[in-house]
Amino acid sequence: MRAVRAAGARRERSATKERTGRELAKECYEIAVLPGDGIGPEVVAQAVRVLEAAAGCEGLGLDLRHHPCGAGCYRRCGEPLPARTLAACREADAVLVGAMGLPEVRWPDGTEMRPQVDLRLQLDLYAGVRPIYLYSAAHSPLKGLAPGDIDLVILRENVEGLFASMNGGIQLRDEVAVDSMVITRSGTERVARYAFELAVRRRRQPMKVTCVDKANIFRSMAFFRRVFDRVAGEYPGVLADHEYIDALALHLVQRPQTFDVLVMENMYGDIVSDLAAALVGGMGMAPSADIGADTAVFQPSHGTAPDLAGRGTCNPVATVLSVAMMLEWLGERHGDDRAGRAAARIRRAVQAVLVVPGSGTPDLGGCMTTAALGDALVAAVA
Ligand code: ATP
Repeated sequence: MRAVRAAGARRERSATKERTGRELAKECYEIAVLPGDGIGPEVVAQAVRVLEAAAGCEGLGLDLRHHPCGAGCYRRCGEPLPARTLAACREADAVLVGAMGLPEVRWPDGTEMRPQVDLRLQLDLYAGVRPIYLYSAAHSPLKGLAPGDIDLVILRENVEGLFASMNGGIQLRDEVAVDSMVITRSGTERVARYAFELAVRRRRQPMKVTCVDKANIFRSMAFFRRVFDRVAGEYPGVLADHEYIDALALHLVQRPQTFDVLVMENMYGDIVSDLAAALVGGMGMAPSADIGADTAVFQPSHGTAPDLAGRGTCNPVATVLSVAMMLEWLGERHGDDRAGRAAARIRRAVQAVLVVPGSGTPDLGGCMTTAALGDALVAAVA
């Protein structure tokens, strides 16, 4: 019965979308919350407090429903991503995820459980949007930067590339193992188009999209670049630029101010996200959104950080900023200004709290606990 209602609701939603190009604003948005493993539940708890405070200030109705998922869920019920959790994610207006996977819980082939990656594939969340923004000069290992000097977005193609091989690589005896890089024209076109649209929405001057690849060596990467260049032709107002992945690693550290939107295949995006996060304070400062045509998942870029779990000192800001991205996305999708204003409140709160010298959790050089930073953010939101 529930499944039939859900299918009906989805049909109604897509009919509205076809008529209007967007979905209608709602009294109440249903958010599926998957706290996951390690520090996931700790950062999600604070992000939910901040989300509820911001939504309350703007009169935005939210219905938050928690669902099991992750390595702990596998230990309890035999599945890292239960079918009911997946169905709830499809049905919800948006999904908020903490972090998933534990090093000691593995499949028989030795790989870790990554239900968040399975979610991307199942929901076809092709655009991995990872903003990197410097809130305080004190957070960066680079010298001479002011807040806002680093303001770029890594756009990670999320469903193909080297990750297409996940669970599908081959191993021959104890001698050879192969994983393949999969690049398709349609997959590259849609993520390249997303990159240019994003640059237009960000309105930085000059608007620029950098294609990151290794086109000088790999046929797959030369193809990625050719498809990117064709899409670039549709956006004459946006600069189209290229970097090889190795040179990008150098230039991101030497001159991060010169980048706007960077688009790349899945595995490069995975690695570059961590490097770029280090420039603005580490993984605790890097939010993300995994966006598809029908739904989107919002989560910090970091993993479960088992070294920090249970200590009460992990940084919740990446998850709080992911919640702001969720509100922005809901606001745009439903034409709902309340959601956009709630997102802006959260960003201002993060700015206001982190500008105070010495504030923040130990990863930022501060001495606040996760909960104390949550308290400060909730107070600043109001
Ligand atoms: P995954 O492979 O799942 O992405 P990872 O191996 O990249 O995970 P993370 O869990 O992201 O590892 O942790 C990398 C480092 O960053 C660890 O030293 C961890 O302590 C630190 N870290 C991650 N998230 C946070 C956070 N929210 N606050 C403080 N430190 C963090």
